[in-house]
Amino acid sequence: MDPVEKDLRERLAKVGRQIFAEGLTHGASGNISARVPGTNKCVIKPSGYSFADLEPHHFIVVDIDTRKVLEGKEKPSIETPFHTKLYKHWPEAGGVVHVHPHYSTILSIIGEEIIPMGIEITEAPALAKGIPVAKFAPPGTDELADNLVEAMREHVAALMPHHGITTIGKTIEEAATNSRMVEFLAKLHYEVMLVGKPHPLREDILKGLVERAKQKGLLV
Ligand SMILES: [Zn+2]
Repeated sequence: MDPVEKDLRERLAKVGRQIFAEGLTHGASGNISARVPGTNKCVIKPSGYSFADLEPHHFIVVDIDTRKVLEGKEKPSIETPFHTKLYKHWPEAGGVVHVHPHYSTILSIIGEEIIPMGIEITEAPALAKGIPVAKFAPPGTDELADNLVEAMREHVAALMPHHGITTIGKTIEEAATNSRMVEFLAKLHYEVMLVGKPHPLREDILKGLVERAKQKGLLV
């Protein structure tokens, strides 16, 4: 096997186990993928597997343009349409994480965009651009893919109503860091709403964070 693809499969399996252990998703829900650098191929989670059980050889290789399976016996994730569309829209994106974390899902149901609050956002500074709510569409549809790409035209994360979140990054690890931070911010936002009104960080600080993300070479 191509060493680059082998490395991606190992990293995907590791990230999948980590985000499962952290409680970002449960059961067989959620999916992750990574672009094979310099190609129009991505390596994606098979359908029906829990992140907890994923081994490197389980992942499927899919053509980003045609969505055809190039390698693997299992069915690729039901959400392959939005993974491939995000790679097409964001040529620099190298990883996509989609999970169903609790607090983010609560905010998605009431249509509440996550406001960048809390200085911890410095760990995922590209999120200073905000975390919008995509329009609802049923799972696995092209409509969902279109709505998500529309919401993520300028953002590396979005909430999906009644469903969960999707984040991207230059690498799968960066996409996972963005997912962790979205759920952290969602919990903070939820708890702030219990006692008052959420207020964003000051505008100049948010702009500075976006600059920092660019300087660090993160996807912005
Ligand atoms: Zn989902």
